Amino acid sequence: MAKKNPHTNPENFRDALATVKEDGKRNWVYPKKVSGIFYRYRTYLSWLLLAILFTGPFIQVDGRPWLLFNIFERKFIIFGAVFWPQDTHLLIFLLLIFMVFIILFTVIFGRVWCGWACPQTLFMEMVFRKIEYTIEGDANRQRTLNEGPWSVEKIVKKGVKLLVFAIISLLIGHLVMAYLIGVDQVKEIVSQQPTQNMAGFVGLLAFSGIFMFVFTWFREQACLVVCPYGRLQGVLLDDNSINVMYDYVRGEP
Ligand code: SF4
Repeated sequence: MAKKNPHTNPENFRDALATVKEDGKRNWVYPKKVSGIFYRYRTYLSWLLLAILFTGPFIQVDGRPWLLFNIFERKFIIFGAVFWPQDTHLLIFLLLIFMVFIILFTVIFGRVWCGWACPQTLFMEMVFRKIEYTIEGDANRQRTLNEGPWSVEKIVKKGVKLLVFAIISLLIGHLVMAYLIGVDQVKEIVSQQPTQNMAGFVGLLAFSGIFMFVFTWFREQACLVVCPYGRLQGVLLDDNSINVMYDYVRGEP
């Protein structure tokens, strides 16, 4: 049996959220840059998945998009096959299979989906976080910059970071709209005056704004308080699940 570390109470950690301070304020997370073989594999896989994600709406099969999730017209195209509202029974079967698969997969392999394939992780850790490291440096330098007074260096770094984040958020916002209404419709919206298609223009702005908010500020809170899969982890994992955990016995007090 593992020896108990006298400096820690192995039960106490359950009483508080690591991302909330004692006074209830947000405890900002400064993750250190990661390196290693698995991180390299994750990076390669993220390139592949991001490439698929960004090309999905542009691929045409028999004159139709390869992927389309048009909830407004209730028309879904998955891998080139068209689904209408009358195909809902198929959707129910698919969802049931998906749910059982997800539960079994998580019980055995833990949070592999979260760490390797979820779009939230792909964008946060493989795109936005890397840009942040490039502009502001590793965790300690980011903390020093955030806690320090406003200087020319701080204004420039924060300004450049926000500008790059805004451009990428706009890209993701347009991508999501392309999945919802199709590439041609998005092209039409961006080539017209906003007043000619107000709903489309507001949709583009809203999605871009949401992504900017999530990846600039909300970050890991999306997994903690919004994502249903994240909230279910407590009941989906058991002692035999593969999980990356902090070893408080070996770690610092
Ligand atoms: S908790 Fe949800 S949002 Fe977060 S990584 Fe997992 S699936 Fe994605």
